[in-house]
Amino acid sequence: MNQVDYLRISLIDRCNFRCQYCMPEGAELDYILKQELLTDAELLTLIEEVFIPVGFTRFRLTGGEPLLRPRVVELVRAIASLPQTQDLSMTTNGFLLAPMAQNLYNAGLRRINISLDSLESDTFDQIIGNRGRSRWQQVWQGIQEAYRVGFDPLKLNVVVIPGVNDHEVLDLAALTIDKQWHVRFIEFMPIGNSDLFADRGWVSSEELRQRIRECWGLTESQIRGNGPADVFQIPGAKGTLGFISQMSECFCDRCNRMRLSADGWLRPCLLNETGQIDLKTALRTGVSTAELREQLRHLLALKPEINFKQRYAGTTTGAYTRTMSQIGG
Ligand code: SAM
Ligand code: SF4
Repeated sequence: MNQVDYLRISLIDRCNFRCQYCMPEGAELDYILKQELLTDAELLTLIEEVFIPVGFTRFRLTGGEPLLRPRVVELVRAIASLPQTQDLSMTTNGFLLAPMAQNLYNAGLRRINISLDSLESDTFDQIIGNRGRSRWQQVWQGIQEAYRVGFDPLKLNVVVIPGVNDHEVLDLAALTIDKQWHVRFIEFMPIGNSDLFADRGWVSSEELRQRIRECWGLTESQIRGNGPADVFQIPGAKGTLGFISQMSECFCDRCNRMRLSADGWLRPCLLNETGQIDLKTALRTGVSTAELREQLRHLLALKPEINFKQRYAGTTTGAYTRTMSQIGG
């Protein structure tokens, strides 16, 4: 098992989008009450006094939509300025990014992943559940601004859904040819919207690679990340193509992460709630951070290797009811 040194922190479970595959409109979601969210001070205490002493050095801020969190720039500054923080990144839908990108960068954020499932504004709005003025342009501006400001690497996350956006795979891949952007195709998981999953199914990374290979050729990239993506490159392209294949492959043996939900639950695995710890209640009831470090060490030793394939490949029932926005995707 890899060293587990990477924490994905959900700052908020709410979102300004309702992506079909994540928080479909009409789905009943129990949002975390404001008083149940970890406060900034609690989050920083956990990072400094619990996670860092146990060996965590890399943090990703996510959600829900992390840019909806009040004082997010100050939080970024506080985490980035800790001497032990080796890496701080964020995953965002990009809608609020354009006016915030420079401030986030100045506060110490250097790496950003922006979700972009389509280059067509109609398809994009259909995916994100938008019926008003198109939101695509504003997300695109966020991406351009993040690029201008100097975020590096700048990654674009794409969830491919058959019959919805799979016709755009080559156009999205082509974004990597002239710019040093990194497009990452994520296999659709039956988390969040099991009806859509049952209806549409999912496309494997290998099938996507095949389509791209037939068009331009594809080489394995020299540039490797720390994460679960298999990285490839269109020959001569400036950027890379990543494939996150949690449905068609099992990469549990490479897993280096845990997840902290916005209300302070620490999960050892995306899909396994075994052993999770309620850190917020512990802090609020006076459990010492020394005791929490012990509990975390124990959880690290238990961190199970769960096979996504066994549990989810081929499932049509989507028995898993929590969404990525609730877990902290
Ligand atoms: N709101 C931010 C965003 O969309 O980038 C951050 C949170 S979102 C839950 C994090 C990532 O989870 C996004 O890249 C999203 O595409 C992905 N995601 C959500 N539900 C998914 C699903 N059912 N299958 C695969 N990826 C999913
Ligand atoms: Fe919101 Fe991100 Fe989920 Fe879309 S994927 S609904 S942007 S949390």
